Amino acid sequence: MAILVRNLILFFMFTVLLALSYGIWNIEHKLRTVTYSEFRYCLANHDISQITFIGNRVIVQHVDGDRYETIVPNAEKLISELQGKNIQISFEKDRSDQIFQGVALAYIILLALTVIISLNRKKKSEEDVQKFASDKLILPDGDRKPITFDDVAGLPEALEDLQEIVSFLKNPNQYSQIGAVSPKGILLQGPPGTGKTLLARAIAGEAQVPFYSFSGSDFVEMFVGVGASRVRDIFREAKTKSPCIIFIDEIDAVGGRRAGGETASGQDERSQTLNALLVEMDGFSTSDTIVVLAATNRPDILDPALRRPGRFDRQVNILPPDTKGRKQILEVHGAKVALAPDFDMGRIARMVPGFTGAELANLVNEAALMAARDGKNIVEYVDFEHALDRILMGVERKGLIISEEDRMSLAYHEAGHAIIAKLLPNSDPIHKITIIPRGRALGQTQQLSVSDRSSYSYDYLRSRITILMGGRAAEEIAFQQRTTGAQGDIVQATELATNMICKWGMSQVIGPQALILDDGGFLGGAARRMEMSNKTAEAVDQEINDLLETCSEDAVTILKEKYYLLKQLAAILLDVETLDEEDFEIIMSCHFTDKIQAGIKETHQCKTCPAADSCLHSKRKKD
Ligand code: ADP
Ligand code: ZN
Repeated sequence: MAILVRNLILFFMFTVLLALSYGIWNIEHKLRTVTYSEFRYCLANHDISQITFIGNRVIVQHVDGDRYETIVPNAEKLISELQGKNIQISFEKDRSDQIFQGVALAYIILLALTVIISLNRKKKSEEDVQKFASDKLILPDGDRKPITFDDVAGLPEALEDLQEIVSFLKNPNQYSQIGAVSPKGILLQGPPGTGKTLLARAIAGEAQVPFYSFSGSDFVEMFVGVGASRVRDIFREAKTKSPCIIFIDEIDAVGGRRAGGETASGQDERSQTLNALLVEMDGFSTSDTIVVLAATNRPDILDPALRRPGRFDRQVNILPPDTKGRKQILEVHGAKVALAPDFDMGRIARMVPGFTGAELANLVNEAALMAARDGKNIVEYVDFEHALDRILMGVERKGLIISEEDRMSLAYHEAGHAIIAKLLPNSDPIHKITIIPRGRALGQTQQLSVSDRSSYSYDYLRSRITILMGGRAAEEIAFQQRTTGAQGDIVQATELATNMICKWGMSQVIGPQALILDDGGFLGGAARRMEMSNKTAEAVDQEINDLLETCSEDAVTILKEKYYLLKQLAAILLDVETLDEEDFEIIMSCHFTDKIQAGIKETHQCKTCPAADSCLHSKRKKD
């Protein structure tokens, strides 16, 4: 419609312009008109040499060359009157009616043409959009074998999260019957190559629904409004195919936080597109079974409006795999090539810390290429080694690659946290320990709160500080040096200690005195101290320092006592990178025996230990 209206407006503007210029031309070229009586006067004076009749209009030529026109009441009478005078008489056909008709006809034809062309264009652009949408459509019964969850390895948590979406897409009625509103938007966030696109395709494959796949940059066009109208068209089109999935890769291209430094039009275009997307998502009715999946590797720059309820209110983190995950991914891709018998992918997995799914897939392929190039018909370890050399030397590895030394101290650091958390009576159980760098933190030891506590005891808080200090303590014991790795721990510990003394009245010396302004947060949060006397301030500083120091010393004492255990846990971590609660418990019960405590280094093989291969006990046996 818009095109038609625009063209019609253009057409009328053109007409007005034409009329105006005709008017101006007319004023300049038109003959002077005189009155009939003036004409009679000239006729009586014999000033006229020639008269041309055009109907009742006459054009008069003077003897001196002057020309003008006039209207006569009765042409025939005038003609007879002129007989015998020395005036040339000529006639011209009056064509003004014909000209008018001609112009009117041309005008109508032009108008009709405008309308027809515009409508045609509109149809074409509609076809374009349909083509745009259908080009990106993958149907469940297409010729390609659908991707399923079996093709996605090493992402058990994400698969669990997304299982619900699959069952919703399969049985929307079951959900609407109980009045449950389905999730509309899911944001898959994680580094490039971790399998976000794969996962989205797998959901479509599992649910056997149509899958529309776009990239954020498809919507960023030169012209303002194109992206927005594309979004609307896509959703209109998708509604006809419901239930279905719309996947938008790199959503940050349209959903980025509006920042300065861009041209006004680019800015406008993006926010219009984003708005259109939000409006469409808000406008789903319960009968439209459409799930919008979006992927990004820059969740930090996304506009917060995207995450509001009813939009992308679910976020699934897709992170680079740990050793176990890498092994599984390698096995999935290894199944497509002819591997040597009894090939152990675990061995390869341990060689490539930090590799993403895409890099692992590439590695398998490169290895197969190596084998084929050498004329072999199976892929062996050496091929993987060659492929790895080529990959590592050829392209610079993106992302974080940490040196062996750093990994070492990281492993000790995290093991230190974990062992103290396990041994102190008042602490939360260990949920997960990892030395895979994530975000800004290098490693992580996650503890689960047993219950949502609303009140914390002195002992609990003190244990927490001691656990925080355990990271550095472990590094110090193992390498006799301090690193920057403990920065986050120290900040947290200091905040806790400050709160204990200045907020919760837990110091004997200071007493139950509130000395910091409450900032709303319960644990942690940057607190500001109130105005206080120098003497009090000094005492407070002393108390905080004492508390931190004693906790730190406690941590060192515990770890020194359990040094053998620390070494083992660190070695296991270096090997498997991530330990969950269960693994950790098994290791602790396996290794944390009285014998070890007593310092008896007995050689044994732990059957249940997930790290049996790398267990120091068995290593020692080999040596
Ligand atoms: P992203 O969208 O996160 O950038 P992709 O989904 O495009 O990553 O991954 C690229 C390729 O890497 C996939 O086609 C697949 O072959 C491989 N891949 C990535 N992650 C996995 C995984 N978890 N399991 C199996 N293959 C994976
Ligand atoms: Zn730490």
